[in-house]
Amino acid sequence: MLPSVALVGRPNVGKSTLFNALTRTRDALVHDEPGVTRDRHYGVCRLEGERPFVVVDTGGIAGDEEGLAGATARQSRAAAEEADLVLFVVDGREGASSLDDEILRWLRKAGRPVLLLVNKTDGLDARAALAEFARYGFADTLAVSSAHRQGIDELFDTILERLPADSDVDVPEEDPERVRIAFVGRPNVGKSTLVNRILGEERMIASDVPGTTRDSIAVDLERDGRKYRLIDTAGIRRKGKVDAAVEKFSIIKTLQAIEHCQVAVIMLDATEGVTEQDASVLGAVLDAGRALVVAVNKWDGLSSYQREQTEALLSRKLAFVQWAEAVRISAAHGSGLRELFKAIHRAHASATRQFSTAEVTRALEIAYEASPPPVVRGHVAKLRFAHPGGENPPTFVVHGSRLRTLSASYTRYLENFFRKRFKLVGTPVKFVFKEGE
Ligand code: GDP
Ligand code: GDP
Repeated sequence: MLPSVALVGRPNVGKSTLFNALTRTRDALVHDEPGVTRDRHYGVCRLEGERPFVVVDTGGIAGDEEGLAGATARQSRAAAEEADLVLFVVDGREGASSLDDEILRWLRKAGRPVLLLVNKTDGLDARAALAEFARYGFADTLAVSSAHRQGIDELFDTILERLPADSDVDVPEEDPERVRIAFVGRPNVGKSTLVNRILGEERMIASDVPGTTRDSIAVDLERDGRKYRLIDTAGIRRKGKVDAAVEKFSIIKTLQAIEHCQVAVIMLDATEGVTEQDASVLGAVLDAGRALVVAVNKWDGLSSYQREQTEALLSRKLAFVQWAEAVRISAAHGSGLRELFKAIHRAHASATRQFSTAEVTRALEIAYEASPPPVVRGHVAKLRFAHPGGENPPTFVVHGSRLRTLSASYTRYLENFFRKRFKLVGTPVKFVFKEGE
């Protein structure tokens, strides 16, 4: 569904720099574990017109006393073993080291497809840098500079060629009537409890014990005459004695579920507010452009004073997704579920609403007349017409001239205007600007 690429290498070869170059995320999903010196980072690489893939910065393998048997190394290895493609990153400036040799040995044992990436080749003779590693015997090698984004486009092409194609996977026909929803969120917010409630049977086991429901499953259900496919995720375990490979699996599962759903329901624990990890999961939903409902769970556990406090906190922390509905629920007691499903439905309807070119152009004209773009250094953008450009999220293609001078705040204005005019709730809205015509 969503293939993964793991970055493996010793410290300081430039893996994080490369991770940023590939994902352009500020908001990586971070997995930290006790006893591990460096966290794994997960991001999704989205290229125009290409299938997205997950990038995992495995953290790195140090040559210190921990060595290859250390916790960091172990979890790096676990991540690499799950990956569809491993990028073995080495330093073109320093050349091959004995630690590189060691990493290579276990990479061979892991048996995953590997691409050797010689980094930091800015200002170097790329051929000479590659020759330094020729004895590793890789057919697949590439010289890049992550810091200067040199060779990154070629790297993208190579990655996309090497990853399993969509057609290699059996994708079941989607029933257009069936709304695909995913409950996502960090561990212990109550995802399994909610899913149990909804299904009304012990199909999953909810419990305090971390690691009981680690596999993701999809379940079809009907509720109030409407059809849903529930893509459940194991969520993101932060603590606990869960096996590293299994934990990593679940972050990827979460990203996959987000990718595969139409409406993501992000669950929060009302007793804990909005944590950093909640924000990263939210970021992943926004990056994917999915419709969004916030389910604030464990509302039953709050006193009325705490409820007031929590309301204030939520509206502050969720101000950047004001368009999303937040529903207070108690998965344990089954309260708020009717409201939750109504919100899911509204979000889905907005996300998949069909527009005509006429109504979209009309909306643009009214927005433009009410407030034309400001003059920027003597230039002013002209907006001519618009047409629909797709659903989930609703996309509007705006044609005009000098569109580059449009500010982020003007785009935001258009977005809010369209949202209001078309009564769009629970979904991001995307604008694409096209110069000319
Ligand atoms: P990691 O430990 O493997 O994640 O390495 P980092 O991404 O933290 O990079 C280690 C150092 O190498 C940093 O000082 C980076 O700025 C530098 N670096 C990373 N990529 C490049 C590159 O392409 N060229 C050069 N000259 N330096 C780089
Ligand atoms: P998951 O890791 O997100 O799947 O979370 P679980 O469903 O396993 O729930 C974690 C813990 O929170 C369990 O102890 C649940 O009993 C508890 N819990 C779940 N929903 C609620 C709720 O609505 N109210 C309260 N008070 N506790 C809940």
